[in-house]
Amino acid sequence: MSHAVTTPPRVRIAPSPTGDPHIGTAYIALFNYVFAKKHGGKFIIRIEDTDRTRYRAESEAMILDAIKWFGIQWDEGPDIGGPYGPYKQSERLPLYQKAADTLIQKGAAYRCFCTVERLDKLREVQAANKLPPGYDRHCRNVSSEDSDKRALAGEKFTVRFKMPTSGVTTFDDQIRGKVEFENARLDDLVLLKADGFPTYHLASVVDDNAMKITHVIRGEEWVSSTPKHVLLYEAFGWQAPSFTHLNLLRNTDKSKISKRKNPTSILYYRRKGILPAALRNFLALMGWSLGGDQEIFSTETMIENFSWDRFSLGGPVFDLTKLLWMNSQYLKELSNDTWVKLLRDQVFTESYLKQIVPLVKERVQAFEEFIPNTDFFFAGDLKYENTPILPKGVAGKVVANWFSDVLEAFESLDEWSVPKIKEVMENFVEQNKIKAKDLFMPMRVAVSGTLVSPPLMETIHVLGKEMVRRRMRLAMDYLKTQKEPAPSPAKPEKA
Ligand code: GLU
Repeated sequence: MSHAVTTPPRVRIAPSPTGDPHIGTAYIALFNYVFAKKHGGKFIIRIEDTDRTRYRAESEAMILDAIKWFGIQWDEGPDIGGPYGPYKQSERLPLYQKAADTLIQKGAAYRCFCTVERLDKLREVQAANKLPPGYDRHCRNVSSEDSDKRALAGEKFTVRFKMPTSGVTTFDDQIRGKVEFENARLDDLVLLKADGFPTYHLASVVDDNAMKITHVIRGEEWVSSTPKHVLLYEAFGWQAPSFTHLNLLRNTDKSKISKRKNPTSILYYRRKGILPAALRNFLALMGWSLGGDQEIFSTETMIENFSWDRFSLGGPVFDLTKLLWMNSQYLKELSNDTWVKLLRDQVFTESYLKQIVPLVKERVQAFEEFIPNTDFFFAGDLKYENTPILPKGVAGKVVANWFSDVLEAFESLDEWSVPKIKEVMENFVEQNKIKAKDLFMPMRVAVSGTLVSPPLMETIHVLGKEMVRRRMRLAMDYLKTQKEPAPSPAKPEKA
């Protein structure tokens, strides 16, 4: 279902800086980029940082850095600017407030003075009566004089969209075809929050219009937002862009990709030693094919041959084994010189070595002992069968549960530092009234594969959150199979 592209398209990705750069962002970015380049258009990055509760300061730079590493260059963005800046939503707030006012003037939006308490109560009653959640449009009929008066008197309000209560809204997806939604099922969504920040819906539409975006290509999780956006474009009197929704990446069990089951951070793959070209090729295959059964192809070849006709809707499975196979195909084509250069640039980097050296300096008598003492800093997944991991008298399932709680606490850290890691682990020990060593020993084995690693918190810090999460999850799988504390072999072995 390809649509003719008559003018050079302008497309964008709009990541929210709420955490590590996500592999799904790379996937969406690739398709945006390839589509833009196929038709001589522009690929833009806009940072959507209006959700202040989930905002993480270091995330924006990490995202840009990760996309750069991934190997696709943007034409406009927060770091390089462009004709439609700023490219960061927190720097565009007056635009959204003005847009919300415009809609109020047009009668397409209204101020909602409902308190949080009222809305909570409403939700409770709806849940109790098994009704779908949604706003009851209580403030929709407040007269505009009253509304102005109350706003002027300083009463707090949000701005809500006056959703049509009948009819259907449709859009023509480049790969899904015609998609239809009944308006009656759509809520009077909030456009502007009480703190003056826009919601995603308002900011996204205002910016896509202001930045002259012609094609919105995003993940399928946004399909249900699109009718709302189409209606917003209509209310503003703007021409809506074309919309395309790519299928979400899946775990091998077909569930939506999640860090519980699959590492989702681009940084993990960089660290693992996946080549960007291999990752682009692999992600390209997550929905698209070159035709025939040729699986190995460059991004340039993809651009030359690109059309949505070759995109198939089906749950694309992010299969690590396949990615590794693909990476191996690329690795063996590299010259020896490139190999050495990449090893230095990606694995034995100066900054990584500088973090590791202080941890082992005192335990090494000659450099020949460096690698044997630090191999787990350079390894990927570890095996646990040969190292006693269970503390005395504690069942594997129990330790696995501790790990799960500790990991959750790690997730909510806003900073990955030794003091914070220490705080999490010590608090856990204290709150659960367990012996410190009963937690620390299995954690040491989980992250390093040995009983004699360098200081634990420092090791966890240097390994990084993604690697620690991955290894602890693998160790949890192993622990769940361990009922009795395993008899301890005399000498611990590494994987
Ligand atoms: N900020 C949204 C995200 O994090 C952007 C969705 C869109 O592309 O409209 O994915």
